[in-house]
Amino acid sequence: MHKNLFLFSLFLYSCSLFSEIVIDPGEIFAIKVDDCPNIQTQRELFVDFAGNKYAILPAPFTKDVLVINKYCLPIKVNKKNFGESRITIENTSMVDLNKSDSERVFKESQLIKQSLNTYSEDLQPSLNFISPVNGIISSRYGKQRYINEKPRSPHLALDLAAAEGTPIIAPSSGRVILIGDFFYSGNYLILDHGNGLLSSYSHMSKIYVEKGEIINQGHVIGEVGSTGRVTGPHLHWSVYLSKQRINPESLIKENYFESLFNGF
Ligand SMILES: [Zn+2]
Repeated sequence: MHKNLFLFSLFLYSCSLFSEIVIDPGEIFAIKVDDCPNIQTQRELFVDFAGNKYAILPAPFTKDVLVINKYCLPIKVNKKNFGESRITIENTSMVDLNKSDSERVFKESQLIKQSLNTYSEDLQPSLNFISPVNGIISSRYGKQRYINEKPRSPHLALDLAAAEGTPIIAPSSGRVILIGDFFYSGNYLILDHGNGLLSSYSHMSKIYVEKGEIINQGHVIGEVGSTGRVTGPHLHWSVYLSKQRINPESLIKENYFESLFNGF
């Protein structure tokens, strides 16, 4: 999208003069806490900006128009065509799982889900993210996935392709809360940035950090690899806010954080 048009659309959905916030799936928006005092009692991401306190909230991924009424003003999430992505996995045992692999995947998904439910009050997140890898975008957020021609869950992450061994840096500071070798994700870790903002890193060849470590923005956490279920070396990067997978590509746009407050 043209940059001015992008900023203008940010202005529209962050503008409190409108009685409704209109937003694309996977984007985030700000609500001034003074306008919606009850929000303070909820487990959301709170930030201070220009002397005011805001809740930063996610628009969930949706395939159809969705209206959210749980805040002080209605939030309309647009229907958006993100396109599709078709991949071929030649090792069919990674697609049609046997019993023991299915059990493994189930256990791993429970462990990951539990970690992603973390809400830390001791970490103050920054939304000034930088790209974790100097690579090429190979699959964007929201694409409908087809694996070996069969429809699968949409791709709610950003894929950054780079050569095996390319450094992966922390896009924002956080605490390492999970490290493991998982069936689909390969060498995998989760960073907890605080207040329900988390990010995950899949398919790494090497991991350089330990569970419990606090990592600064820019710190090398590992290297790009092709562990788990992949078609080539890349980082599959997911960002979670209040348990919703949001669009990582937006977070690394220039002045994105400041743009959330246009119109207030
Ligand atoms: Zn991916």
